[in-house]
Amino acid sequence: MEKTGLERSLAHLERQGLAVGTMVTDRHRQIAKWLRETYPHIEHLYDIWHVAKGFSKKLLAASNERECQVLRPWIKSVVNHMYWCAVSTPSGQGAQIVAKWESVVSHVQNVHTGHGDLFPSCIHGRLEGRESHKKWLEPSSKAAVKLETLVCNKTLCKDISKLSGGCQTSSVEGFHSLLIQFAPKMILIAALHYNENANRVQDVTKTGEARFSINYPKGRKGAAVLRRVLESPTYEYAQELLEEIVKECTDKENVDAEFAVEPVIVPPPLCAQFPHPEKADFVKQHLSRFKKTTT
Ligand SMILES: [Zn+2]
Repeated sequence: MEKTGLERSLAHLERQGLAVGTMVTDRHRQIAKWLRETYPHIEHLYDIWHVAKGFSKKLLAASNERECQVLRPWIKSVVNHMYWCAVSTPSGQGAQIVAKWESVVSHVQNVHTGHGDLFPSCIHGRLEGRESHKKWLEPSSKAAVKLETLVCNKTLCKDISKLSGGCQTSSVEGFHSLLIQFAPKMILIAALHYNENANRVQDVTKTGEARFSINYPKGRKGAAVLRRVLESPTYEYAQELLEEIVKECTDKENVDAEFAVEPVIVPPPLCAQFPHPEKADFVKQHLSRFKKTTT
């Protein structure tokens, strides 16, 4: 769904004559691949929060391992460092972001110089306050090695090189979560379902007798209760919604509006790719096989 949404949005922007230079998203792999192949000229960057969240989860798990508790007080600083690496580096200098990022492995061992060519030494000056009171990691200790493995992970570093130092996705996400507070989708559907089925009458059996069922509600501590069995619920609102959507998409006014000129291509169902035998032949074949095994 996300890919289709993006596909349509980009096509819409293109029709409006807007050239997209840079796009910031989360790390959705399918989207990254599609964008790379379809719009190779668009620079695709990642939202820092999404990358930081995944990393801090891993670091927290590592800090729970034996001999690794010393990592705990460093988690916040290392994650903050990731933000700093991205926002302090001009756009397009991915290697520089990674060099800054990897320097944290030395920093936590109280080594602040000799990090490499791209980012030779820390730029923090004398450490004061909270930072100076944290326990440095012992070089080659289990915790230090663990942190280095996590920080220098190839996939992570590739993502870090694409962190956006400017725009983030937080405002879009904020808008979505606000939207959900006003109108959670599940509640809307529940309301439609309730309204349609609120006045169901008691169901009858084939012979016309009213149907009942015996229940044992928790509140009655095992005492049996007789309940009327109601008619099965209906789902006509679903059909109405579908018709409404089709109407929206085909109304002359809407079709003329800029966002609906693209025909909506619905992909075929998955089973369409399997061979479809003729039903009559298939039944015959099945029956003849059945005959063979029984005679
Ligand atoms: Zn340092």
